[in-house]
Amino acid sequence: TVPLLAVDGGGTKCLAVFADAEGRMLASGRAGSCNYQGVGREAAARELTRAIREAKRQWTAEGNGGMTASSLGVSPIEHTPAAEEDGPLQVACAVFGLAGLDTAYDRRIIEELVHEALTSTQVQADRVVVENDGVAALLGASGGDPGILIIAGTGSIVYGINAKGDSARAGGWGHRVGDEGSGYWIGKQAIRAALRGYDGRGAATPLTDKLLQHLKLQNEEELFNWAYSAAYSVDKTADLSRLVGEAAQEGDASACRILEAAAVELFLGAQAVIQKLGLSKAESPFVVILQGGVLQHNPVVRCRLAEQIAAFSPLARVNEMKREPIFGVIGQGRRLLNLG
Ligand code: BGC
Repeated sequence: TVPLLAVDGGGTKCLAVFADAEGRMLASGRAGSCNYQGVGREAAARELTRAIREAKRQWTAEGNGGMTASSLGVSPIEHTPAAEEDGPLQVACAVFGLAGLDTAYDRRIIEELVHEALTSTQVQADRVVVENDGVAALLGASGGDPGILIIAGTGSIVYGINAKGDSARAGGWGHRVGDEGSGYWIGKQAIRAALRGYDGRGAATPLTDKLLQHLKLQNEEELFNWAYSAAYSVDKTADLSRLVGEAAQEGDASACRILEAAAVELFLGAQAVIQKLGLSKAESPFVVILQGGVLQHNPVVRCRLAEQIAAFSPLARVNEMKREPIFGVIGQGRRLLNLG
């Protein structure tokens, strides 16, 4: 029996990892987005299955577990192949932290997807826990201590818990009607800024050329057509946020405005959660964990957000450690198994 299967399913990628009792990665598999709200039910099930199958294949194929672990930046550990690649594999606990799990309705659909993925990969788990990606990452990273976790990756959300164990969330309502401050939101603001400049409703921006070059398009009308074409996707739009980061670094005012606005949006979510949980009224400090591509790689959003949180609540301790969300999910699995 392998102790843990941990799955971090975001809006762009799905990462499945087998881990030992100490939380060390044994093998991993990566696939595309498994957020059914972004890619649809069928694609979500396929990608989730692909990630688990790949991790299982690496674990069961002799000698490959070590290679995978080291490619993830952790020290490889020795193992004996646990089962035939196409045979069943038993795990003590399978923890899924999945974007798109926002309501009871989502839970029904996503639990079905998880069940299908485990069945078709022949992974048998004594215990299966399915949570929103923010919940799993927060509980795993904070070890249950009071704190909040802000994710700004493809999507965005804020989750928190207090010393009484109450939890609260804000944002995370998906790309169509929410996810302010996320990579998707930033990418969409970039397209809007380009079209505004084209109309003359706003200043021309160097973002336009960056977008056109990146998407291999000729002009603004093609950019507009791309946004309504089959080529358009949530994660491709989120990817455009990198160009906004670049333009801001080069001094473009419109890119800076977009990033400042993203930080404000994320702060509003953080503020709401801190207030709902009474964290700034409690005597003791609480941790603030920043996760997701935007917060990991975009210093403007990260710093502005951290500044606003510090000004709002002196008890907030922003955790500067940049760790992949999968570590939080593994941590949550170890907690559930009373291993840490
Ligand atoms: C999803 C949430 C998720 C958030 C962060 C949003 O798009 O709707 O469920 O927690 O992204 O990944």
